[in-house]
Amino acid sequence: MLHLNRRHFLAGAAALAAGAAVPRAFAQAPSGPFKLDPLPYAPAKNEPHIDAQTMEIHHGRHHQAYVTNLNAVAGQNGELAKLPLHEMLAKLNELPESIRTAVRNNGGGHANHTMFWQIMGGSGGEPTGEVKAAIDRDLGGFSKMQEDFNGAGGRVFGSGWVFVTVDRTGKLSLVTKPNQDTPLMDGQRVLLGNDVWEHAYYLKYQNRRPDYLKAWWNVVNWEKVAERYAAAKAGTLTI
Ligand code: MN
Repeated sequence: MLHLNRRHFLAGAAALAAGAAVPRAFAQAPSGPFKLDPLPYAPAKNEPHIDAQTMEIHHGRHHQAYVTNLNAVAGQNGELAKLPLHEMLAKLNELPESIRTAVRNNGGGHANHTMFWQIMGGSGGEPTGEVKAAIDRDLGGFSKMQEDFNGAGGRVFGSGWVFVTVDRTGKLSLVTKPNQDTPLMDGQRVLLGNDVWEHAYYLKYQNRRPDYLKAWWNVVNWEKVAERYAAAKAGTLTI
C-alpha cells in the first residue's frame, strides 16, 4: 500500500504548493468541487472484521474513482457544480440526459461511501437512546432489524446497498438499492447503510456475503449513527 500513501502525499503536496484552500483534501481531483476526505481512522481500525487492505483499496481507489469521475462531469457543467451533492442527487431527472447516468453512478457512489466511512470505525454493540427506541418502534427491535437488514443485503442481486433511512420525524425504514443508487435520489435521508458490492468484502470473505454482512455490525459506530439521527430530525442531515 506504500504507493497509495505516496500518491496521496504527492496530491496533498501539490495542492499545498498551489496554495489551494483544501485542508482536508489529500486526494482532491485536479479540478472540480468534490473531494475525497481521508478515512476518519486508520485503515486497520475495522480489523479483523474488515481488513485493512480492503479499506485502503475501497477508499483510496474505488471511492476516489467516483470522486474523480463526478468532478469530470461537474467540471463541464458549471450550474451543476454549484449544487450540494444531496440536492444534485434529488434532481437527477432534471439533469441533462447526457450526464444523468454519470452523476447517478458517481455522485451516488460519492454520497454512499462518505456515509459508509463515517458510520464505521466503531466497536459495534447495540444502539442506545433515541436510535434504539426508533429501531424498537419501526423495525421490530435490534435483533430483528439486523436479521432483516442482513437478509435484504444478501438478496441484492449483483452490486448494491442496504440502508436504513430516516425521515424528519425520526421514522426508520429498511431499503435496498442497486449499483450506487441511494435513497437521496428519492429525497430521503440515510441513517446507515452497508455496501454489498464484492469490492467491499471479496479479499477476506470471497463469495460469503452473508458472513461479511454479519461481521460488519462489529464495526458500526453507534455514536456517529446517533449524530446522524439527531441531524435528520433537525433537518441538517445531508449525505
Ligand atoms: Mn463500495
